[in-house]
Amino acid sequence: MTKTKTQDNAHLSMTTLPGDDIRQIMWRFSDRYDLQMVVQSARSVARGLVARLVAEGTRNTHEWNEKKGQLLAAYDESGLTAAFMDPEHGGYIPGPKNLTLALVAYELSWVDAGAATCSLAGNLALAPIHEKGTQEQKQKYMSACLPPQAGEKREPWRGAFVLTEPIPYVGVDAGMLGGRASVAEWKDGKEPMLQIEKRGRFITNMAFANFVTAAVDSGDERIKGSCMVILENTDPGTFDAGSHTLKLVHQLSSTCDPIFSLKVPASRIIGGYTIQNDKIVPNYSHSEVIEAVFKRTRVTVALMSSAKLLSAVEPIMRYQRQRFRGGSAGSPGTPRYDLGLQQKEDALHRLVDIWATGEASASLGFAAARFFDDFDVIEKAKEELFQKQGIKGARAQLKAFKQPMEAAKEYLAMSVQPESERDSKRFQELEKDTLVQYLIKESVANVLCPACKLWNTGHGANTMREAVSLMGGYGITEDCPGFLGHKWMDAQLEATYEGPEAVQRRQLSITMTNELFLEQLRQWILEMRKIAGTNPETGACTLASAMNLWLWSLKHLLEAKDANGRSLYHGTRHGVTFPFADALCWLLGARHLILDVLELREKGADNPVLAETLGGTVQFFSQLSCVQSARAAGEASRIATELVFGYNRHPSWQDASKMCYESEQLDSIEYSMPGICSCAQASGDVIEKDGAHPAKAGPCVRFSGLEEFNRLRTKLDGCLTGARLAKDQAADAITKMMIPEALDYPS
Ligand SMILES: Cc1cc2nc3c(=O)[nH]c(=O)nc-3n(C[C@H](O)[C@H](O)[C@H](O)COP(=O)(O)OP(=O)(O)OC[C@H]3O[C@@H](n4cnc5c(N)ncnc54)[C@H](O)[C@@H]3O)c2cc1C
Repeated sequence: MTKTKTQDNAHLSMTTLPGDDIRQIMWRFSDRYDLQMVVQSARSVARGLVARLVAEGTRNTHEWNEKKGQLLAAYDESGLTAAFMDPEHGGYIPGPKNLTLALVAYELSWVDAGAATCSLAGNLALAPIHEKGTQEQKQKYMSACLPPQAGEKREPWRGAFVLTEPIPYVGVDAGMLGGRASVAEWKDGKEPMLQIEKRGRFITNMAFANFVTAAVDSGDERIKGSCMVILENTDPGTFDAGSHTLKLVHQLSSTCDPIFSLKVPASRIIGGYTIQNDKIVPNYSHSEVIEAVFKRTRVTVALMSSAKLLSAVEPIMRYQRQRFRGGSAGSPGTPRYDLGLQQKEDALHRLVDIWATGEASASLGFAAARFFDDFDVIEKAKEELFQKQGIKGARAQLKAFKQPMEAAKEYLAMSVQPESERDSKRFQELEKDTLVQYLIKESVANVLCPACKLWNTGHGANTMREAVSLMGGYGITEDCPGFLGHKWMDAQLEATYEGPEAVQRRQLSITMTNELFLEQLRQWILEMRKIAGTNPETGACTLASAMNLWLWSLKHLLEAKDANGRSLYHGTRHGVTFPFADALCWLLGARHLILDVLELREKGADNPVLAETLGGTVQFFSQLSCVQSARAAGEASRIATELVFGYNRHPSWQDASKMCYESEQLDSIEYSMPGICSCAQASGDVIEKDGAHPAKAGPCVRFSGLEEFNRLRTKLDGCLTGARLAKDQAADAITKMMIPEALDYPS
């Protein structure tokens, strides 16, 4: 009998915590020396200055102060500030920088996410200019923010991004703008001057910002619609940073409620404007700019929470191992001394769950960052094409996409056909078609971004609570190694800013029904089935079955009505669409972890440093991915079941509960009651006592038209075979893993 791979590797296990070689392969930057250097720079700032600041209690003040200000200098000197800039503006990394910034955020958040936010908020301020600004705007503000080069004497500019306004204006609903732009002065043949009135709430970097990018609406009939404008602290009027926010989180960043009342030239409108019929018409509305910005920056935020989870593993392991050392009980070599709390299955299993969640969230986040690096290129090509064709504005673009949309469906259908059977000329033609490829990629980008922001931060924050709990009372002290208590609280901010979970769920509820996305999801199911054939230990089979169940349920929810005749899948029906979006996020996280494990298996063999221990490492990561797939499948299945069944009316509550009660008593039962519920049917005793019951009973909601759902769900349940064994094995591996004597940063 031939042994399976799993049996062959059964004795192997990962012996140390994963190092850079492993991460570079899994997150696909082993061939990017520039990124490896950025990681090292960010890490030295994080585990040096940032950790010292946190350990010294610098988080205990709301105000921005000199000590916190050291961060800005450190980011400039280590190259982190310039990492955002393009080479033509003094930066040193060419091309899209989503992965670069994601790695910086990850490294800084490994120690403190407030410090990461302080670095990233400057990029966020520049992002509207980077995405939609005119050439002049880009040149001016990017160069001003670039740290001084050797021999240069100047202070670099710092920026803030000002969207959120005091209640009752902008928050989750970014359309409710209170900020106003009006014409202050418009002399013949001269550039108009604008009067900007804007107040901000919870604005990061405000204490030291020289300029802000602010969203405002028209407050004047001579200005059309909304826009974003650049305001400088030397513009005439008021540029007041306002009072400090009394934050419970991210205290290594500055947050204030600023007030602006300034006169600025119309050339500060981001992306420029035209004059049409004596009206100033901004080239981009504030929502167009914001969409282009958040589409990318939210991925970076997602990775901040991933770093927290993975950074928690080592401190928890050390705490568990050392818990009973000292005193009279046990000496080296005894299980109590060597393993401490790791003798207890629950402590280990919970750690496995935290680790697996952290891995899946990092895999999803970095996959999204890489995807956006690719997507940026095609998006730029699309913009250029539209510009050439004179297609401007969202409505005109939508019209122009009508035909390419059909062609994109055709391309996706052809892409799964065997090469010998498809029309290769047509296939190549579609492959080169910018709009077709743009639409295909966009459909995935529009899912990946909200999915990782939502799941990594939201479920991440919940999982950080688990991490804190494993440290016992220590977890909720300032002394907790790895600052886990701070990280737990901080994760909630990551789930809130740049759009809380409701915003991401709302976006997903639309984008996840895009036919192009769904077609790619179908292909991912096939991909998982294939992986299950070669690497069943990863949990790919479970995941494929769960994706299938999700897909079937989506179709059902899109078509079905509830017991009152109301559509189930509807924009305002958050009870259906929001949890269903959550279900998809679970699946995506598990998928990307599986893909990263396979990448490690394949590419790790070429790395001489890893070759010897690769088998055990892959084995351990496969166990984690199996655990994660089972959990994700369980969540997706639970959500789908609740939604598919939960909106049908119970045939007769009174009769049903009477039946349930009586069946437990096994007394005389009236089987011929109409509308007997599924709970009663499920009782074998009752059914067997009078075989006529199921036939006599009214139609049961459980089985009416949902046989296929039940079949898929039963199949999925069977796929969970072995998942708990994988968890046991991962837990056992953790007990044997070597960890350093102490954390590599002050704590
Ligand atoms: C420390 C910190 C730093 C920040 N930095 C910045 C910054 O630099 N720049 C900036 O512009 N903003 C910043 N923000 C603001 C942040 O982005 C907002 O707080 C966030 O977008 C939520 O807005 P809100 O607080 O007004 O919540 P609300 O809009 O009041 O929403 C509260 C809750 O209500 C629910 N809800 C609201 N609307 C809906 C809806 N339509 N559908 C379903 N549910 C809904 C959601 O559950 C939501 O979480 C920061 C915030 C903090 C705390």
